[in-house]
Amino acid sequence: MPPTSPLRLASSLFEASFASRPAAGASAPGRVNLLGEHTDYNGGPVLPFALPQRTVVLAGPGEGWQAVSGVDSAVVSFDPTAAPEGRWTDYLAGVIRVLDGMRAAPPGGRIAVASTVPAGAGLSSSAALSVAAARAVSHLAGRRLSREALVEVAFHAEHDVVGVQCGRMDQMIVVHAAARHAALIETAEGSVTPIPFDQPVLVFETGVAHRLADGEYNRRRGECRAALAACRVAGVEAVDLAGVPESELERLRAAMPAVLHRRLTHVVRESARTRAAAMALSVRDYPKFGEYLVEGHRSIRDDFESSCGEADRLVESAMRHGAWGARLTGAGWGGAVLVMAPPDRLASLTSGVSADFRREVGRGPTVWTARASGGVRGERAG
Ligand code: ADP
Ligand code: MG
Repeated sequence: MPPTSPLRLASSLFEASFASRPAAGASAPGRVNLLGEHTDYNGGPVLPFALPQRTVVLAGPGEGWQAVSGVDSAVVSFDPTAAPEGRWTDYLAGVIRVLDGMRAAPPGGRIAVASTVPAGAGLSSSAALSVAAARAVSHLAGRRLSREALVEVAFHAEHDVVGVQCGRMDQMIVVHAAARHAALIETAEGSVTPIPFDQPVLVFETGVAHRLADGEYNRRRGECRAALAACRVAGVEAVDLAGVPESELERLRAAMPAVLHRRLTHVVRESARTRAAAMALSVRDYPKFGEYLVEGHRSIRDDFESSCGEADRLVESAMRHGAWGARLTGAGWGGAVLVMAPPDRLASLTSGVSADFRREVGRGPTVWTARASGGVRGERAG
């Protein structure tokens, strides 16, 4: 095990902070969403895979709740029944509160967290944390939750308690991911279809943390609800926005303000595109898949307006350097750009795009290669 493994870090953090050994442990990965952005809370499909980077949560018994994260190594006390405080422990508090409602939480505990998932980069460090915590804390209470239950606990923790109006994509892929596979998740049905996927994916971090994202994100959700209401008034019987037929888009232009029509257009076309891209992926047609990635990026840039200048530059530069495709992944307004390219182009593309970014933005992007990895799992504590 390399010395920087998050399991080893979490173990030493636990012992140094609480002078005892943990009794339960779990880890969960971050994720990259290949395609299907802002579709998960609109009943549409998403196409993510799990990263090799993981978050480890170790838990041991205690009175009251205390937690420590390798991010700052400071031990903090928190009360899962109190209102969220705007701190990272809100995610733990949310998980414990939801578990408590299922009689699957102990009365108190000690928690140590260590992670190699970049936080706030659109790579789902929050679901990695919530899902790993849900598994470790429920184990501490002697309960073994099903995968479906882990998704629900982590989703309700983030959605109801932390207050991000997220869909279920992140929790579902973090729980259900299989190594060397992406997953087509149909969020309306909750179905997960694994698709063999062993290509290396370049991830360029824009270095723009999506700090404003929660406000914009929740505003987009409101716009999607308003667009759906306008569709219904216009006589379209759709359960959710992704269910609006593409053939109705032109007619619906007059039925709502232009900005809502752009949001609708993104969700409807992105849903069709994601299903088509999943087909291309399953027959390993990467050039075609790349075209869908670029179309998807244009759609979030122009219609959903959730991109940022740094991401647009990275995508354009990657295409100039011979990529099959590239796009901003995650909620947006910052975060990371994924790039897929022929294997013999990866090295020159990485240096070319990095040089372009340094010239245009004035600093180097952080870049690394990802391969599809496995989902949540137990970790031996102590
Ligand atoms: P993303 O999920 O894209 O990384 P979010 O804004 O949804 O971005 O979640 C990031 C937040 O999750 C952080 O601000 C922090 O509160 C919490 N978090 C994630 N990983 C850790 C960690 N290892 N230690 C402490 N907090 C973490
Ligand atoms: Mg998140």
